[in-house]
Amino acid sequence: MTAADSGTLDLLARILDGLPNLSGAACVGREVLFDPYDRDEPIDLAEYRHARALALCNECPVRSACAEHVHNQRGDTARRARRAVIGGRAPRLTQQKENP
Ligand code: SF4
Repeated sequence: MTAADSGTLDLLARILDGLPNLSGAACVGREVLFDPYDRDEPIDLAEYRHARALALCNECPVRSACAEHVHNQRGDTARRARRAVIGGRAPRLTQQKENP
């Protein structure tokens, strides 16, 4: 596990803390697709990952609960969540590339 992996896991844990039930979440085991854009990563690869992640969100049986919970996050957790794909929402990568 890399430092980036543990950062993503920490973010997911904080976002998902308090969620009643995410059984059947489509992202389980595919977390790398949802990770924030890394400035060392080609942007077209990040866009491809995020498109695949959004497709999973669109099929996810717990999307509504996930999206509502993420919407209710505040502060640092909310800022970090906006950089990843979560709850059927993807970040604007071109904006992130210009303003890291
Ligand atoms: S909506 Fe997306 S991020 Fe949320 S649990 Fe489902 S697959 Fe995961």
